[in-house]
Amino acid sequence: MAVPISQMWTVATYVLQQKVKGRKRYPLVLMLEPLFRCNLTCAGCGKIQYPGHVLKMELTPEECFRAVEECGAPMVSIPGGEPLLHPRIGEIVAGLVERKKYIYLCTNALLLKQKIDLFQPSKYLTFSVHLDGQREHHDFSVCLEGGYEKALEGIKEVLGRGFRVTTNTTLFDGADPKSVRGFFDEMMEVGVEGMMLSPGYSYDKAPDQNHFLGRARTRRLFRAILANRKPSWRFNQSPLFLEFLMGKREYPCTAWGMPTFNIFGWQKPCYLLQDGYADTFQELLEATEWERYGTESGNPRCANCMVHSGYEASAVNDTFSSLRGLWQTMKATFNHTYEDAGALKMLDEPVRPVHAYNPLVQIESNPQQEIRA
Ligand code: SF4
Repeated sequence: MAVPISQMWTVATYVLQQKVKGRKRYPLVLMLEPLFRCNLTCAGCGKIQYPGHVLKMELTPEECFRAVEECGAPMVSIPGGEPLLHPRIGEIVAGLVERKKYIYLCTNALLLKQKIDLFQPSKYLTFSVHLDGQREHHDFSVCLEGGYEKALEGIKEVLGRGFRVTTNTTLFDGADPKSVRGFFDEMMEVGVEGMMLSPGYSYDKAPDQNHFLGRARTRRLFRAILANRKPSWRFNQSPLFLEFLMGKREYPCTAWGMPTFNIFGWQKPCYLLQDGYADTFQELLEATEWERYGTESGNPRCANCMVHSGYEASAVNDTFSSLRGLWQTMKATFNHTYEDAGALKMLDEPVRPVHAYNPLVQIESNPQQEIRA
């Protein structure tokens, strides 16, 4: 089991309280983006395309704490940009730990060794390291040779110091399921607590628009990867969400389950789309026309989305909506290898070598220089 009991208990009691209160829409994880700046220029990223003056802006710790209190979610994910580039990230994390929030600090780990003294090990703090697969795949995905090695170095260092560490992996079209499974083995060997997965979402700002997955291809890819599962693999995610990715379940989008707060305010309607901003979390809940979003809405921007920020909260809600949901979650957690002969055959299908794709757009920058910053 990848998630500690105390965290599961906190989340379970929180969701049950929301249900007892009859709240139709409640947040589960706050996506807190303290800055958009990054020391990588990944081709699939929609955040680093902002103009220079926006990339220089950042949330203050006080703004972060206000958002966290306003939202009330028991978990806070800190993506970016690269949060370790924020000059006050240590203060932000310490303030959230003090508020007993379970924090996932999402990092490419390039600066992890250098910045680790800003943090104290805590059951509330997890470093969620972005790794998009085995060495060659990750380096290609983040457009940085040596990125995998550097991240691995960071992971080993912080594991050795007693911190919680997970990986987060975004999979794009052309991902090699056999290699992804090999990557899971590697991460378990390194000793990370668990792994998180998501299909990529086609940001219209991302320079590479050719490799995002459609829904049918997403399901096929995740079935190949996650069926015939090894008991040694641990995932730090809702098991029902993983079944959703494999095409075993249908869920509507629950975009309000993982609301986003950044330098512009509360982003409507979700982490991926930007249809304006609200000044308060309450305004976000009340003023967003939620029926215009989700695959079921017919909105073309949502048509292919199966991303965790829209659908993982749906899976968690399913777990706590009935005894059946609870039972299915327990079954999926403790006793499920998903034997599937068809999926096994998919692993033998030919795949293109990593560098056989159309050339990705490389944005002008000097990441090595930034890494040293
Ligand atoms: S389906 Fe995806 S893009 Fe659309 S609102 Fe939900 S999370 Fe956002």
